[in-house]
Amino acid sequence: MKDCLFCKIIAGELDTDLVYEDEKMVAFADINPQAPVHLLLVPRKHIPTLVDLEEEDYSLIGHIYKAANQLAREKGLADDGFRVVSNCKDNGGQTVGHIHFHLLGGRFMQWPPG
Ligand code: 5GP
Ligand code: ZN
Repeated sequence: MKDCLFCKIIAGELDTDLVYEDEKMVAFADINPQAPVHLLLVPRKHIPTLVDLEEEDYSLIGHIYKAANQLAREKGLADDGFRVVSNCKDNGGQTVGHIHFHLLGGRFMQWPPG
């Protein structure tokens, strides 16, 4: 998708280091980390928001959660725990219109979110 930041990263146009990639998704460090570990897990398919998911996309979301499990273990987060967050549209705080999942860990996180 033209003019989509994450599509550009996926296309290699922004020279972003990927910490994980496969045929369906990529993961890379957030440019403005909110925790000692802050990764973004992003499907290669341009899906704008959670409410744009279609029936065929739900296996992709499971695939991303499997990668979240693997990456959390690799980053040493599995014992103490971590958070996976997907912000949706304005009230959810979404700023990039390509669905993605934040994997945050390495510190205690408050609840409820701000
Ligand atoms: P959202 O606010 O949509 O939930 O998450 C978007 C995230 O993308 C933010 O946490 C922001 O810091 C991150 N981000 C924005 N631009 C870039 C960039 O150019 N590179 C990387 N690695 N992360 C970015
Ligand atoms: Zn995109």
